[in-house]
Amino acid sequence: MKKKQPTSVVTGAAGFLGSHLADLLLARGHKVIGIDNFVTGSVDNISHLGGSPNFKFIEQDVTEFIFLDAPVHYVWHFASPASPIDYLELPIQTLKVGSLGTHKALGVAKIKDARFLLASTSEIYGDPLVHPQTEDYWGNVNTLGPRGCYDEAKRFAEALTMAYHREHKVETRIVRIFNTYGPRMRLNDGRVVPAFISQALKNKPVTVFGEGKQTRSFCYVSDLIEGIYRLMMSGYDLPVNIGNPTELTMLQFAGQIIRATGSRSKIVFKPLPQDDPKQRRPDITRARKILKWEPKVPLADGLTQTIKYFKTKV
Ligand code: UDP
Repeated sequence: MKKKQPTSVVTGAAGFLGSHLADLLLARGHKVIGIDNFVTGSVDNISHLGGSPNFKFIEQDVTEFIFLDAPVHYVWHFASPASPIDYLELPIQTLKVGSLGTHKALGVAKIKDARFLLASTSEIYGDPLVHPQTEDYWGNVNTLGPRGCYDEAKRFAEALTMAYHREHKVETRIVRIFNTYGPRMRLNDGRVVPAFISQALKNKPVTVFGEGKQTRSFCYVSDLIEGIYRLMMSGYDLPVNIGNPTELTMLQFAGQIIRATGSRSKIVFKPLPQDDPKQRRPDITRARKILKWEPKVPLADGLTQTIKYFKTKV
């Protein structure tokens, strides 16, 4: 007998990660119902799916009740502002989508008897005192600082996900996403990858915050989405870090972007934003063991693809 075509709901489907996830699900034979209210997402990220008979789009704020009359097998909850300047500008929407939006998305999974995956974040570790970050580290978050709205919303979302798992027996997955980059990032979202690349492409000063000693580890989007897909399909219900463990300082990163773009830009130093994590690198032992996953795309190759995309946008 032919296997039934699964239906996936993706909240935040017009966002950077949500749209890449929708592409992968469609390629793997899912029907996809995308939901987005375009607060930070863009129609450009999904316009290529317009003609697909397997893609349906609903423009909606997921903090409102989500009504779907079709059967649903998987719910992927990706809706949220996700860059520091976005959640600085939208602190209440960020808290609402992490709390009320997660509640509505879990409600869909519960009523449809669907499996649920929460897009959580390395931000739940705050400015981490354990390095690299393992999933059993509880984090170091300033609830009152400018990043608190995002960090605490995601921490609440994890707690609510576990509550639905324990109380309502919903099958749940939690991915903690580390810094990710690739085509479809918003040019002006303030994150370091679009900021440095657009500055370098325009031969404008590249703005390194602080002394540039803080570290991050960047995962190319195709690697990340593959890891997340494997997690949903696995039988594992505790959080899993997905990210690339290659760590570098922001000063090194600025130099690499200038070289990769062949730019004449100089580096300038700007004040370090409050509560900017000093170091971040995922420990991916769990993902390697349980999902047989690790990133494959080297930074230089991922940057080539990303720079190509930004050249069409600058
Ligand atoms: N950053 C920078 N210059 C910029 C934008 C960001 O030096 O123009 C730094 C920022 O201070 C942080 C790192 O780059 O240490 C990554 O910032 P991003 O906003 O991409 O995300 P975060 O990892 O902090 O959530």
